[in-house]
Amino acid sequence: MRTSLGFVFSMLERSITDSLSVRQFGESEILQVLAFFDTDPPECAFCGSTNVERWDHLIPVSLGGETVLGNMVLACRKCDDSKGQRPFEQWMESSVPGSPASRGVADRQLKRKRIKDYQASFGYAVRPLPTRLVAGEQARLDEIRRKAREVRSELNQLIIDFRKRTTLQTDVVLDADPSL
Ligand SMILES: [Zn+2]
Repeated sequence: MRTSLGFVFSMLERSITDSLSVRQFGESEILQVLAFFDTDPPECAFCGSTNVERWDHLIPVSLGGETVLGNMVLACRKCDDSKGQRPFEQWMESSVPGSPASRGVADRQLKRKRIKDYQASFGYAVRPLPTRLVAGEQARLDEIRRKAREVRSELNQLIIDFRKRTTLQTDVVLDADPSL
């Protein structure tokens, strides 16, 4: 499969958002999450599965969520894969394949409340990227994004020109040697 320019540039944007966010989630924070949810063994915050394999950002990185206490919960693979970039409350009740509602998970309202209590308990509120930057930084980021759009457009044009030229070349070769 080709790696499309659109994909690469969306990863660039994700990387920018991630790199300009707080990442403070070590052993002490993990212990505080486990103590808050207080189940033995630990459970997926969304469905209660004890098959927990991942740390999920309640507010996704792409929407300004950071890797900090109050935004990280334990999740099973099924929930993490199904949730994607969706807000957790709507997703839990949605018919999206793999969502807790679609799997008939019990006590969903209780689980949603527990998660909201967890966010509140650690005073977590999302800080969108622009609110984390001072004026000079925002101007620099705007300029970098402008250049990135320019690079994307120039690359796109180069690819279009290349494809046109190579298609013509192929035609020439075919004309010169019909056996090909
Ligand atoms: Zn789950």
